[in-house]
Amino acid sequence: MDKKKAGIFRKRLLAKQEELLRQVSKSEQDGRQADGEATQDIADKAANSYTKEFLFHQSDDNRRMLQLITEALERLKNGSYGLCVACHEEVQHKRLEAVPWARHCIECQEKQEQGLL
Ligand SMILES: [Zn+2]
Repeated sequence: MDKKKAGIFRKRLLAKQEELLRQVSKSEQDGRQADGEATQDIADKAANSYTKEFLFHQSDDNRRMLQLITEALERLKNGSYGLCVACHEEVQHKRLEAVPWARHCIECQEKQEQGLL
């Protein structure tokens, strides 16, 4: 991948990383707020734990994506960005456009989803 393209992906990854970090810290704050609100009755308590559960899963997904982005930035640094981590073929450009933190090419991604990788 040429430097110009790599630079564009790097910028997009960094922007996404920043956005996710903001979301993670916001949902942590919301979780603390849900904790702090005085819960009066059972219905309130149920709603409260539902909110916490929802926020927890949301930030779990965000954390997973943050990890993928960190790895992608690492690959940009060591020059292996854009190559599938499984078959080492180039990841389709369209796929990188859609998912800049993709680790696998489309074929390997499909294999992974079927549990074959
Ligand atoms: Zn592959």
